[in-house]
Amino acid sequence: MRAGGPHGSPGSASTAPSSGSDGLFDYDFVTDAAWVSDCWCRMLGYEPGELRVDRHTWVRLLHLEDKAQALQQIENHLRGAAPAFRIECRLRCKDGAWRWVLARGKVVARDAAGEPLRIVGTHIDISARKAAEGRVTWMAQHDGLTELPNRTTFRERLDQRLAELRRRGGACAVLCLDLDRFKAVNDTLGHLASDALLREIAHRIRATLRGEDTVARLGGDEFAVLLHQGEDADRAILVAQRLIEVVQAPVVLGAQQAEVGVSIGIALTPQHGDEAETLFRRADLALYRAKAEGRNTFRFFEPAMDEEAEARRRLELDLRRALQHGEFELHYQPILDVATGTIASAEALVRWRHSSRGLVPPGDFIPAAEETGLIVPLGEWVLRAATHEARRWPEHVRVAVNVSAVQVRHGNLFPAVRAALDASGLSAERLELEITESVLMADDERASAVLHDLRSLGVRIALDDFGTGYSSLSYLRHFPFYKLKIDRSFLSVGSKTEEAAFIVRAVAALGRGLGMIVVAEGVETQEQYDVARAEGCMEVQGYLIGQPCPGQELRIHLRRSTMDGVQQPCRRSRHECGR
Ligand code: C2E
Ligand code: MG
Ligand code: MG
Repeated sequence: MRAGGPHGSPGSASTAPSSGSDGLFDYDFVTDAAWVSDCWCRMLGYEPGELRVDRHTWVRLLHLEDKAQALQQIENHLRGAAPAFRIECRLRCKDGAWRWVLARGKVVARDAAGEPLRIVGTHIDISARKAAEGRVTWMAQHDGLTELPNRTTFRERLDQRLAELRRRGGACAVLCLDLDRFKAVNDTLGHLASDALLREIAHRIRATLRGEDTVARLGGDEFAVLLHQGEDADRAILVAQRLIEVVQAPVVLGAQQAEVGVSIGIALTPQHGDEAETLFRRADLALYRAKAEGRNTFRFFEPAMDEEAEARRRLELDLRRALQHGEFELHYQPILDVATGTIASAEALVRWRHSSRGLVPPGDFIPAAEETGLIVPLGEWVLRAATHEARRWPEHVRVAVNVSAVQVRHGNLFPAVRAALDASGLSAERLELEITESVLMADDERASAVLHDLRSLGVRIALDDFGTGYSSLSYLRHFPFYKLKIDRSFLSVGSKTEEAAFIVRAVAALGRGLGMIVVAEGVETQEQYDVARAEGCMEVQGYLIGQPCPGQELRIHLRRSTMDGVQQPCRRSRHECGR
């Protein structure tokens, strides 16, 4: 190392811009004397004097990736094209690690021709700032919980891969994953446990893939996988099967154990598209199908799915419009009290009066309304209309309204019911809400709280379609059910009379034992009626008693039967109630 020179004094910190811990450098172009400060040496892990310093030292230590840009900037400045230079670059330390420095320098003397004579400057350690910036960048690209890439990064990698494929040919596959039963686990085990579950699942998915593949967490319990190589469907199938296998293996969380599943939708390029947007959307459509067809399974995209999605989108738009234009109407089906032979209540059943399709039954639009959340405003309308109608019935006749699981989960069912009762003036005791087991399966605690609140308001809760869900019996102990409606499939024409009788008898005994009113649904024949009655059902509903009919028709019927003094069984005049 040399110090001093004819054009000033390399080594005199007076000329080099300095601050405490900055490394300083000074170079004399005429004498080729180069000097660095002790701080500069220590910054890179050397003892002063340990490193032989010449004009090439710095360039030798520069990171390859930073070299071209750094040299270009210095060159510009030496030529006089820039008043100084300022570069962020990495320098190699004695131990081989890289240190980020901010290198600033300036020519302090030039000859008459403008050629540089001497240059001085500083190297400041900016590693800490760079590390912080790195963390911020990492956070912007990753999911904090699982440390997997996030949606944005997934999208960037997919774009990159597709660009590569366009240049060089080849194929890749996109898999959209959605965990099954995650919500239930989340609700039962709590957030901490479900976070740990997600981390474990993320780890298992990652471990199933090759290094070149990408797995990202898109949010919640959704993941996406990019299979870097995907010449044919076989690898995608193998990976999907393996993913299903590893995800469904039980996860031990402290003293608890959780089991979830995964549904997977797959889109391949080039068969299913060569744009990221299209592939992603199509993998998602295939996922939708996998979910609909039993979960814990995988499906490939098929062109028909695009059409179905379009049909769903149209149905959603149609439903929205129908709601705005008041195209829904309620029909009411009477329910007979077997002991007195009178109508105890009527169930409100929604229909859609469609301009071209005629009267559309609820089975054709309720699922779409549930999926899109439109069931919430629709359900509120049903509550308002049904309570309003029931206000015009004799005092002893109650109205039953079907409530979807989405309404219970949405959280505004209680205020909606109260508002409907307030607006109509109907007493809470005259309102029954029919829920299905899906309500209870989806969200145990929340559902339980809402149902208890409604019960304390005076509203009665009926369990509809009993026997079609599973593990029904445990629900019966946890919820304040007033009524049990045996699903009509048990009495349907197909089922043998003895079997029907046996099931109805068992359920009726169960319901009675728990203090509930047991209703037989779907009674179409006298024989079925006799079975229901003989086996202990207190109420009966079905075409034999009366078909669902507009409120006005039911009102006429109710009025007539009340005018007769004693109410007559509706089934004697079923045609009045028929459609
Ligand atoms: P649900 O609540 O079990 O209603 C009984 C269904 O069985 C009604 O079908 C009714 O017309 C039909 N039914 C009644 N007696 C007989 C019979 O003797 N034989 C046969 N074959 N069928 C009979 P609908 O009106 O098509 O309703 C179907 C389902 O749609 C309802 O089943 C209910 O789950 C749902 N739904 C209807 N209205 C609403 C509503 O306002 N909100 C919600 N969330 N769901 C509704
Ligand atoms: Mg019902
Ligand atoms: Mg039912």
